[in-house]
Amino acid sequence: MVYKQMVVASMSLELLRTLCALPAPPGQEETFRQFMIEHLSPYADEVRTDALGNVFFFRKGKSSSPRTIMLAAHMDEISFLVRHISKEGFLYVQPLGGFDPRVLDAQRVWVHGRQRLLGVFGTKPTHFTSPEERTKAVPLEDMFIDVGLPAESVTELVGIGDAVTLERELVEMGHCYTGKTLDDRIGIYVMIEAFKRFAESQDTIVAAATVQEEVGVRGAHAAAFGIEPDIGIAIDITIAADIPGIEERNWCVRLGGGTAIKIMDARSISDRRLVQFFRTLASESAITHQMEILPRGGTDAAGMQLARNGIPVCTISIPCRYAHSVVESVHRDDVAASIELVRIFCEQSHRFTTT
Ligand SMILES: [Zn+2]
Repeated sequence: MVYKQMVVASMSLELLRTLCALPAPPGQEETFRQFMIEHLSPYADEVRTDALGNVFFFRKGKSSSPRTIMLAAHMDEISFLVRHISKEGFLYVQPLGGFDPRVLDAQRVWVHGRQRLLGVFGTKPTHFTSPEERTKAVPLEDMFIDVGLPAESVTELVGIGDAVTLERELVEMGHCYTGKTLDDRIGIYVMIEAFKRFAESQDTIVAAATVQEEVGVRGAHAAAFGIEPDIGIAIDITIAADIPGIEERNWCVRLGGGTAIKIMDARSISDRRLVQFFRTLASESAITHQMEILPRGGTDAAGMQLARNGIPVCTISIPCRYAHSVVESVHRDDVAASIELVRIFCEQSHRFTTT
């Protein structure tokens, strides 16, 4: 596995840490998009944005009649909007994306008001809870954020509709990276690295950093309508449920088991020929890979697939434990394998035919 050491050694923890730290609630991806433009423009022949806020980086194909291949990874993260401020200055929030309230209790957050404020999801002390309350998660609508300021200051600095994102730094843990927002900053990272690394392509490669995936795969749909790709490849996390309490037959994929080639999830069925093509590429280059069937969830592939007259899609997934929490964890070897598979796909896509 020569590629593994080489790719792992050249991966940038610093870049990944920056990607995970930048806030991008659905519909408020400006800061993140600006970073993408600054970071990836030097590698692109052309950069475009659209009205929804998707951003596209083009590398022109060498063929005389190049096809268009769209890679897509989403910029937005599960987050919240302030929906109510109590007269004591506590904030109540509307979720954007699928949160499990059990993982929010006692977490730190950033409140993006007139200035950025640190806050915490406040929680009733165990001394004050009944035995019954202790067995149940507090529903999100009853949870509140405390920013440690008097009510007058809170109402001055925070307004209805201000964004709230989770606060947690990305760190290395064993052979893994762990933190918030690896869904889908690890997909963005894989797309960036593959886009920077591929030598040349017969097809035109478009790396799309998309918006509003966590609220129902909205950005990728509009993006694919505009770009009109011949093929769409989403890059996102998938659920590695290989943890205590879950039977092996329900693991979906294994952390450290390699990049995952998606056969299907709840929102898209990958084009069978593309699935086979990715398997062939992975086998030829000895890239550790596994096949994925995820009974729930969806990726940007779902949005691309339904644009215009329909687009053949597939998703390359990075296995992730503890998805949609602040301790999302991915294995560095799976990240390296994903970068390598997407890079080779960009160089070899002309070998794929739909006839
Ligand atoms: Zn995602």
